[in-house]
Amino acid sequence: MQNTAMRKTWGFYMAKIKKKGKLYYTLQAFSSVPMFILGLIIMMFSFKTVQSAMYDQVHTELQNMTDMLISSYDMLYPGDYTLQGDVGYRLFKGEQDITSDYSVIDKFHENTGVEFTVFYEDTRILTTICDEQGQRIVGTGANSKVLQEVFYGGSSHFYTNTTISNVHYFAYYAPLRNSDGTVVGMVYAGMPCAQVNRTVKATIFPILIISLCSIVIVCLISSSYTHKILTALHKIRTFLAQIASGNLNASLGQEVLSRNDELSEIGISALSMQRSLRNLLEQDTLTGLSNRRFGDQKLSETHRRFTENGTPYVLCIGDIDYFKSVNDTYGHECGDEVLKAVGKVMRKEMHGSGCVARWGGEEFLLIYEGATLSEANAYAEAMLSRIRELKVPYEGNEIRITMTLGLAQATADIDINDLLKEADLMLYKGKKAGRNCVISE
Ligand code: GH3
Ligand code: MG
Ligand code: MG
Repeated sequence: MQNTAMRKTWGFYMAKIKKKGKLYYTLQAFSSVPMFILGLIIMMFSFKTVQSAMYDQVHTELQNMTDMLISSYDMLYPGDYTLQGDVGYRLFKGEQDITSDYSVIDKFHENTGVEFTVFYEDTRILTTICDEQGQRIVGTGANSKVLQEVFYGGSSHFYTNTTISNVHYFAYYAPLRNSDGTVVGMVYAGMPCAQVNRTVKATIFPILIISLCSIVIVCLISSSYTHKILTALHKIRTFLAQIASGNLNASLGQEVLSRNDELSEIGISALSMQRSLRNLLEQDTLTGLSNRRFGDQKLSETHRRFTENGTPYVLCIGDIDYFKSVNDTYGHECGDEVLKAVGKVMRKEMHGSGCVARWGGEEFLLIYEGATLSEANAYAEAMLSRIRELKVPYEGNEIRITMTLGLAQATADIDINDLLKEADLMLYKGKKAGRNCVISE
């Protein structure tokens, strides 16, 4: 059951891919995916840049505060640091027992929100950090790495993650020196990581949102542009496929032709190709009229309209009189010139009143759609008059010809073949009656 459902879903997507084409998905992917990846890289880079700038700022702030705390003690209580007592430590600065007065270190903490600790050697003597019971965590030791680098190494250090009483801190440790330069302890200033990270997030959030929106907008624009190109390509492909399958009436959407780029040029070329093919297939090369194939097609369409909608029509077959004698007297080439001239007159005369095709040799098929028999008769008479007036110049001669036309009106009880036979019969009658006439009864 599940397998069948999966096969169906898979089949559905494959059919979709096949319909749109591989190029569609490849180009869509190539236009959007790199943009998306680039956007992500920019976002990550901005995040890292803001984060590192923030850490630098925290570093500087902690350093300044540590320096200020040390300077404050120096200014308030001149002299060196000395520790007295074995269990209850008392740290003296000069004459002053600074363990008995937390006001300096607490004031710094209150004003800055930063935690401070003064170490004597490796032991916390003064601190603003309290444990869960609210007791200052004095008497505890510094970690060995800090001791190594700051106390024994004698240089200040900034740490991005130190843990004190289960809280993570950005920490700055500076060596605490007496007047002779000997390191007697350390001063610590720390800011909770959570607090700094909150600030980083608050700063980066609008940047991320703007970046994300920009990425989405750029991807959408790029995808929509690609979609338009690919839709035009798809239309051209469908159009060409229709022509290849023999549908010469296929149309190409206006949105392709109005593009004003290479794709519209391809579309225009495809349309010209369609026109040329149609001419090759539907046009008589000598007279430029429609050929028998097209005439046949038109006749079927007209007859269908007659049977479906009742639109009347009259069929007419015209045949040049004594055309063989033109060939015999002036040559085949002259006969061709006459056919061309007759074709020109017929096209001009038929314009607006029906369709004309070269039916064969010197025979022509005319369809008067929407006309009654008497109207068609009048049109045919008018045409015959023009043909009678025609003078075809050939090697100093003026060739004149006449034509006989037979008419038959479509009726509900006869099909196309019978109608053609009927028109032929009328033509035959006209020939028998002496030619150069229009016969419809
Ligand atoms: P009718 O009045 O009875 O129609 O006499 P006709 O001479 O016109 O008829 P017929 O059928 O005897 O001769 C038709 C001629 O038309 C014969 C053929 O060589 C000529 N013909 C047919 N097609 C062409 C063409 O494309 N060019 C030329 N020059 N002659 C053609
Ligand atoms: Mg003939
Ligand atoms: Mg003839």
